[in-house]
Amino acid sequence: MTQPYPRLLSPLDLGFTTLRNRVVMGSMHTGLEDRSRDIGRLAEYFAERARGGVGLIITGGYAPNRTGWLLPFAAQMTSSADARQHRRVTAAVHAAGAETKILLQILHAGRYAFHPLSASASSIKAPTTPFRPRRLSGRGIEATIDDFVRAAALAREAGYDGVEIMGSEGYLLNQFLAPRTNRRTDAWGGSAEKRRRLPVEIVRRTRAAVGADFIICYRLSMADFVPDGQSWDEIVALAQEVEEAGATLINTGIGWHEARVPTIVTSVPNSAFAGITHALAQHVAVPVIASNRINMPEAAEQILTDTDVSLISMARPLLADPAWVRKVSADAADEINTCIACNQACLDHVFVHKTVSCLVNPRAGHETTLTLQPTRSARRVAVVGAGPAGLAASVTAAQRGHLVTLFEAHPHIGGQFDLARRIPGKEEFAETIRYFTRMLDKHGVDVRLGVRATAADLAGYDDVVLATGVTPRIPAIVGIDHPMVVSYAEALTGTPVGRTVAVIGAGGIGFDVSEFLTTAHSPTLDRREWMAEWGAVDPWQARGAVTTPLPTAADREVYLLQRSAGPQGRRLGKTTGWVHRASLRAKGVEQLCGVNYERIDDSGLHISFGSDRRDPRLLEVDNVVICAGQDPVRDLDAALRRTGLCAHIIGGAAEALELDAKRAIEQGTVLAARL
Ligand code: FAD
Ligand code: NAP
Ligand code: SF4
Repeated sequence: MTQPYPRLLSPLDLGFTTLRNRVVMGSMHTGLEDRSRDIGRLAEYFAERARGGVGLIITGGYAPNRTGWLLPFAAQMTSSADARQHRRVTAAVHAAGAETKILLQILHAGRYAFHPLSASASSIKAPTTPFRPRRLSGRGIEATIDDFVRAAALAREAGYDGVEIMGSEGYLLNQFLAPRTNRRTDAWGGSAEKRRRLPVEIVRRTRAAVGADFIICYRLSMADFVPDGQSWDEIVALAQEVEEAGATLINTGIGWHEARVPTIVTSVPNSAFAGITHALAQHVAVPVIASNRINMPEAAEQILTDTDVSLISMARPLLADPAWVRKVSADAADEINTCIACNQACLDHVFVHKTVSCLVNPRAGHETTLTLQPTRSARRVAVVGAGPAGLAASVTAAQRGHLVTLFEAHPHIGGQFDLARRIPGKEEFAETIRYFTRMLDKHGVDVRLGVRATAADLAGYDDVVLATGVTPRIPAIVGIDHPMVVSYAEALTGTPVGRTVAVIGAGGIGFDVSEFLTTAHSPTLDRREWMAEWGAVDPWQARGAVTTPLPTAADREVYLLQRSAGPQGRRLGKTTGWVHRASLRAKGVEQLCGVNYERIDDSGLHISFGSDRRDPRLLEVDNVVICAGQDPVRDLDAALRRTGLCAHIIGGAAEALELDAKRAIEQGTVLAARL
């Protein structure tokens, strides 16, 4: 058999060691790093990815000292006791995938730290934390270098194959590199050469301490996406000096955490930044790793074939599917459970101190507790509804050996998620539907499309799972039956909508529908347009890689309304909400809060404000689109109870409030794991 992805699956000889393929599981904080009692879970989490065949794993960030903690008492590598603990991780990885290599990432948060001990190049507060950092003294800088070197030596003691030195995303080393945050005039600032002295010294002294046969990867910010960031000449010079100082690999970092350019969310074009990595790779001899928004093998193979990039980093895609490489090797890319870059169960969890997991793979981070054992007694299971909840339940139950029949009223699977994929910027949600389609087939689920199941259809099964989901709520507004009123489901599936529109309800769906109505074609599918929208340029075009945003004109005039007080969109995702809010602002969507819906008639939507119904206003719109939440669809439950059958109810059918696909898929998986 010819190799399906010859470049991606080819080994990479680093001289003293070899990587089994070109796939790197990039660093990602999981929350399991921060408590020593979780080290066993962390070991199994990485071991599962090693069994899946990944070439190189990079751990979440470990601070080299207390000052570098991200949070109080965050993960650190500062003592032999720490190193001894980590032997469980390195041993598990090396035992699981004999050839998989693992690096410890050393991360000093600098001014991004959420604690009062923080320190940076200059005493300039970050917009993302309440703490003003102390300016490191010359002695403090020397001590910091020593701490990085000690952390690397301890990593070697712990059995790691190397370290990654975190120099990007706006953390300490990046803060020294950019005029934005380094206003020093001593030996560590004042010129580009002096600003890059700290990272270069760290690499040089680390190499001297760990010897020649230990991987040192340097994560280098190739586009800061902040004003007063680095210039391209400075980035190239840094790469060359880091190489000369002893780095084995250079990894790509894109954008500071405070950047107002999205860098990893779903709406960022696929492979958007690979061209920047390619440009950098032309200036150094060491292998360079591309990163951000690369999630499928075709794109990865194309980058490796068409550019000077040597490796592809994928953190979230390996969270979503630990067997990613194994499936690629077996030429079964259509079986990959693709990361859709939603951040909902991974990065959003980090910000609320919850263990990281994955919307499409609830086992991620819970490998030791959510196990899927083959069943010893196959049961006949009927699942009603092929939305995310029913799909997850069907596939998981069938995978365990149960005999599953799935009923779906529509002629296609997906439920509400099939509407989500129509939103500009959410195109990749279709990959989840593709994945489930393939898994239903692979695991032999009997899929009955276009069948609205009745209680009679469900007689005779050992288990019945109601995953009948939700239906759009119809609010009690005078004139709600007017022909100008359409539901979000109708608007998204082709019902014509005029040029001026009022959207009732500013939850996640109201935001998405407003985006849909104002966007003629998705900038996610056109990198040049997307960069212009966000004021991003390639780093050789401007210092910091930013310029004035040039959003395309809105396709419609949209009013987005809610009854409660503003601002709108407070419940959107922690790490993605700002992107949605900024998009609607750029499209000139008029956001109105504290609204009363008085009536709808031929002249439009009549509203007033506040409990005293002040400031009556007529919105002369062509259409009113209703996005006022959902109600559960549970009528079958009552019918089943009358026949004496007690069904399992999951997803939106169980509870519509604040329902999302994360909860739906998790409930389906957990239930099926127990059947
Ligand atoms: P549903 O998706 O409602 O599926 C229920 C299914 O059951 C339907 O296909 C229905 O036809 C079928 N059914 C009902 N009764 C019967 C019957 N008697 N017989 C046979 N079939 C039946 N969530 C996120 O997490 N992130 C997002 O970014 C996101 N974006 C969204 C954007 C939009 C525009 C929309 C509309 C939703 C979005 N969601 C998002 C929400 C997410 O899609 C829902 O939370 C999820 O689909 C709910 O899953 P479910 O399986 O419980 O129900
Ligand atoms: P939602 O977030 O609960 O928002 C419903 C909106 O409708 C609110 O703005 C609410 O605001 C309004 N509303 C509720 N009842 C109303 C009534 N009777 N009359 C008029 N207005 C009413 O629900 P959703 O937007 O339908 O989204 C459903 C779920 O999908 C969400 O929970 C979300 O998690 C998920 N989703 C997620 C994303 C994402 O990007 N992560 C995107 C889309 C959807 P007022 O009460 O203030 O008017
Ligand atoms: Fe990817 Fe979303 Fe899973 Fe995070 S939660 S790994 S972004 S699919």
